[in-house]
Amino acid sequence: MGLTPYLEIGGDYREIVPGVFLVELPLPFSLGLINVYLWRLDEGYLLVDCGMETEACLRALARAREGLGLAWSDIRHILLTHIHPDHMGLAPKLRDLTGAQLHVHAADLELLEHITQTDSYNAWQRDFLTAAGVPDSLIALISGSLADVHRSFHRLSPDRLLQGGETFAAPAGGIEVVWTPGHSPGHVCLYEFARRLLLSGDHILEHISPNIGWHPGRDALGEYLASLDLVGEREVDLLLPSHGSPFTGHRAWVRRTHAHHAARCHRIVQALDGRPQTANDLVAALWERDLSPFHYRFAIFEVMAHLEYLRRRGAVLEDVRDGVAWWRRPPASVSSGTGSPGSRNV
Ligand SMILES: [Zn+2]
Ligand SMILES: [Zn+2]
Repeated sequence: MGLTPYLEIGGDYREIVPGVFLVELPLPFSLGLINVYLWRLDEGYLLVDCGMETEACLRALARAREGLGLAWSDIRHILLTHIHPDHMGLAPKLRDLTGAQLHVHAADLELLEHITQTDSYNAWQRDFLTAAGVPDSLIALISGSLADVHRSFHRLSPDRLLQGGETFAAPAGGIEVVWTPGHSPGHVCLYEFARRLLLSGDHILEHISPNIGWHPGRDALGEYLASLDLVGEREVDLLLPSHGSPFTGHRAWVRRTHAHHAARCHRIVQALDGRPQTANDLVAALWERDLSPFHYRFAIFEVMAHLEYLRRRGAVLEDVRDGVAWWRRPPASVSSGTGSPGSRNV
């Protein structure tokens, strides 16, 4: 692990409710901080997420651990809400330090296997971006901008592959793993029934609409909206997110986020009034500001997740010509002006 150039921040911790500690770790990009959680179990502690693979993250976590008077070996379990680098980066190192059992959802392990086969993943991504209508020059810039991120994914060999429904025994009662696919295929939240706590990971973040990107063979947006409803049905008094402060009001958040995606689906269908367009054309229609190559990649995958959602519900059609996908409305809806099935609210 190389030394990072950014400031020595993070390591602050707070006890949110008895036995649940939020620890802030520094990130070298605009999100600034990630919250990891130390949760007291009947035996030892559960660490939820690990931070980036940087010396600064490791030092910050070590400061919090010392402040709490814990030894590394007190951490008996490590659970990853999902395998994005800010959540999983330090997992191998921390597993060595603690000897803890590592828990990851099976769908995210599968995704990680795909991403860490670097040559085939890069070729797959190039083909995907070409099919989305992205010009070769921009594909080269996008690939360059992702090289650092790509290096922070590592193969993992978890001790337990999660499916959802597993529990950890804790003093206030069981903590349940809830599978919430969408932001990533194997994203999980944790729910403690007794105190109505939901550790929401990146599934629900107070001031950010989590990125929902296309994944092969999946309906990422459909899965995400269903996962929001799953969480919306639970009684929750406090949300513990991975970025930003704990907050309340999950049902209002779920309603707002349904509306956000319904509006985006509607704009896509509207933008297809007239000539067929590629996903690349639609990014220009949906984002008025200039996007860096790094952010452009997320925008394309987000548009594709919406197109996939609309295609599966018959609201758009795809024609592939010379390796590029062109999207259009089905004939009956060309003049109707609406037709987005994403306008469902909870
Ligand atoms: Zn994430
Ligand atoms: Zn995150």
